[in-house]
Amino acid sequence: MALQTTTARGLQTGDSYRESLDDGREVWVDGKRVANVADHPAFKPAVDVFANLFERRLADPESQAVSTFRSPETGNLVSRSYSLPSTPEELRAKFRASEWWMRQSLGQLGRSPDFMANVVVGLWDYHRELEADRAGFGENAKNYHSYAMENDLVLTHALGDPQIDRSASPLDDPDLALRVIEENDKGIVIRGAKQLATLAPFSHEVLIYLNGVTAQRGAEQFVMWFALPMNAPGLTVLCRGPLARPDRTNILASGYDEQDAMLFFDDVLVPWDRVFLLGNGLLAAKGLTRINAWSIQSTHIRFHERLKLFASVAAMVANAIGVDSFRGIQEDLGEIISYTETLRLAIAGAEALATPTPTGLLAPTASHGLGFWSAEVSGRVVEIIRRIGASGFVMQPSEADLASLELRPLLDKYMHGHDIGVAEKSRLFRLATELVNDGFGLRQEMYEYLHRGDPGAGRTRLLRAYDRSETDADVHEIISRVATL
Ligand SMILES: Cc1cc2nc3c(=O)[nH]c(=O)nc-3n(C[C@H](O)[C@H](O)[C@H](O)COP(=O)(O)OP(=O)(O)OC[C@H]3O[C@@H](n4cnc5c(N)ncnc54)[C@H](O)[C@@H]3O)c2cc1C
Repeated sequence: MALQTTTARGLQTGDSYRESLDDGREVWVDGKRVANVADHPAFKPAVDVFANLFERRLADPESQAVSTFRSPETGNLVSRSYSLPSTPEELRAKFRASEWWMRQSLGQLGRSPDFMANVVVGLWDYHRELEADRAGFGENAKNYHSYAMENDLVLTHALGDPQIDRSASPLDDPDLALRVIEENDKGIVIRGAKQLATLAPFSHEVLIYLNGVTAQRGAEQFVMWFALPMNAPGLTVLCRGPLARPDRTNILASGYDEQDAMLFFDDVLVPWDRVFLLGNGLLAAKGLTRINAWSIQSTHIRFHERLKLFASVAAMVANAIGVDSFRGIQEDLGEIISYTETLRLAIAGAEALATPTPTGLLAPTASHGLGFWSAEVSGRVVEIIRRIGASGFVMQPSEADLASLELRPLLDKYMHGHDIGVAEKSRLFRLATELVNDGFGLRQEMYEYLHRGDPGAGRTRLLRAYDRSETDADVHEIISRVATL
């Protein structure tokens, strides 16, 4: 296994994770280059959240048992997110690990390390097809899985082309997509940009495996699957502005701003042992479902945790202002729970209906429809909670207001709630505001709607793939009876 280029080594601890990010990567935010992500005020709170998760995973025996296992290759303790399940018990154990990750972060970290680890499991599962297409590429995929698992890599991915002109094609202007400009004895040299890499500044490596023209004739130079360390020479990471307030009183944004970034590749060398697919658009298009087979379940599990949080916060907000006894509000709260329960059962169903893959792993049944349902449901739940909290999501005293001796008597008298003091009520409402009404909440909602790709395009793909033949035949049969009356 020759691959060994990031600074990450073995199962992460909090300290090793922090240190591994200080690797010379080129990260920019607010027009300035970041010296060390782990120390920078825009990134440190999120780095600390990840570091704490790594610590908690090792400190608590039950967490360790759920989220790690012994590598079948080396016997080392590794993240269970990278496990290759071939029995129902192994599949259950894998998704219990996903549940652990998503529960710890209240469903707020869309790209928790569990997600991309499961994509790498999918990459391993596709190795035979990759190898058959080009000798060595399947082996690279298998090696990459071992390397990522043994070094507990945190990964990001960026699939989209830059949003320049969607009516134009990279076949006319190659700068519209990432492309291979050279193949040499060391590897491929790539040029261009990719978006939107959530978690990029906190990741060890990036995986690239899609673009908008994959299956088009003549698009070979744009078709590539590869992995690259975030400190690769020529890779520039541009992050969006941070969402946490300088005083850190927005609790969720202060810890769970997982960042979103543009990636610029300025003639970057990708060594051959990191390339998994090149030029074959049909193989790439076909492989997309295969490599996402486990990660899609991880996203459902994460969204379930988020819905549970929504259900609790909505009920507590309603209670805090004494509207929870009203019939309409109870219906609204029940509607949120109906979505939460539907998703819980659907997750269990996808696992129960798991089928073997051609490589012999066990994968949950395809559940793309569930993903597009979730994209809509999330918006509906946000709308319900906004309606319940109403003006309370706009006006609450800040921590500084609460601390003011002059203001406090007024706040205690006029801004407390039903059986709840002003301090607790304002903190609850500010948390709810972060979920449904401020910059962090809006970003999360954009994420819920778009992170699986454009839902409209997804539904169209669902329409094409769905087998209606049996019911269509029933309809033909019923209407044919009219003719014989
Ligand atoms: C918060 C957030 C985090 C994300 N994280 C990641 C990540 O980690 N990794 C990653 O790879 N991606 C990520 N994404 C990107 C996400 O996958 C895309 O937003 C999604 O695929 C839509 O692409 P786009 O944003 O480029 O929209 P565009 O393609 O620019 O579309 C803009 C609008 O035009 C419409 N449109 C575009 N083309 C057509 C067409 N041909 N016909 C009809 N209508 C069309 C779309 O429906 C949409 O309404 C993230 C996005 C967000 C918002």
